Amino acid sequence: MTTYFRDNVDHMAPYVPGEQPAAGARVIKLNTNENPYPPSPRAMAALREVDADALRRYPQPYAQPLREAAGRALGVDPAWILAGNGSDDLLAMIVLACADRGRKIVYPMPTYVLYRTLADMQAADTVEVPFDEDYTLPVDALLAERGAVTFIASPNSPSGTRFANDRLAALAEGLGRHHGVLVIDEAYADFASHNAMELVARHENVIVLRTFSKGYGLAGLRLGFGVMRPALMAGIDKVKDSYPVDAVACAVGAAAMDDQAYKNACCAKVVASRDRLANALRAMGYTVWPSEANFLLAGTPDGGSAAPTYQALKSRGILVRYFDQDRLRDKLRITVGTEEQNAALVEALRGDTSQ
Ligand SMILES: *Cc1c(COP(=O)(O)O)cnc(C)c1O
Repeated sequence: MTTYFRDNVDHMAPYVPGEQPAAGARVIKLNTNENPYPPSPRAMAALREVDADALRRYPQPYAQPLREAAGRALGVDPAWILAGNGSDDLLAMIVLACADRGRKIVYPMPTYVLYRTLADMQAADTVEVPFDEDYTLPVDALLAERGAVTFIASPNSPSGTRFANDRLAALAEGLGRHHGVLVIDEAYADFASHNAMELVARHENVIVLRTFSKGYGLAGLRLGFGVMRPALMAGIDKVKDSYPVDAVACAVGAAAMDDQAYKNACCAKVVASRDRLANALRAMGYTVWPSEANFLLAGTPDGGSAAPTYQALKSRGILVRYFDQDRLRDKLRITVGTEEQNAALVEALRGDTSQ
């Protein structure tokens, strides 16, 4: 049968994002890992200062002010930073530049679903290596697949678990022997006790990705970046959009980066609430994985399907994430909200008779 589309596009499943209720809808939204706290006041001031001329002209192709702010905040060379329209955009660039039929995309499962979607778009071969129940990083099994690109989300979604730098370094080292790229997707690093940024300086084949969507409370802005050494930058740069970061995102993002104190304070509140919520869920019999992110993976007390609880919460105006996917049907991924939101969730779960 002939269609309008390439074969692989015809056959692939589209990425399905979490539900986004209409603005103003009265829901407690704990399904897409947004920050419950607003962006930095300095970022909002920068937004108000965007002038007509900044919008009339094309933006800077490399978002230079943002690169410099990120370089200062993270202690990395701005020339090693490539910004994009969300870190999803960086993921897409990496797949476009590196993957192909026979140039495999490898990642452990379960993880961020978009890796699969991006590989399918490119008709690249994918290999999904299962995690064990404790989400130990399966270094040898990953290395055995000799991926052109290996994706590791750390902290991982949906488990919230973070991987130690010596394990990630062993993976980078092994992949480097055949020019495999290791992408460490640190979307949730702002909530974690450690991060892997230092590996970029030590391994030529490592890219660390960061986003403004989670820790900085700027998911609506669409801004993220990758940190990588020049050998990788040279190729990834060729496939980027001409202006992936618009003038507004560049200005607002740079101001948010410069206000690390505000971001750190918001993340510290989320981390404190996360640990309280984990205890409350465990007290109700849920299995909760040790999370270093702003969400919790919670397994039902009786090991049965989590779908009825998901529906019961939804009918009470509380959205959490249910993945109709192997190994996840008995679990919910719950974003950590404000103390009030978390209390409402716990209250609703206590009243849930579906378990
Ligand atoms: C949220 C998330 C992203 C996407 O970040 P954006 O910058 O909003 O595109 C990337 N990776 C993981 C693992 C995420 O959870």
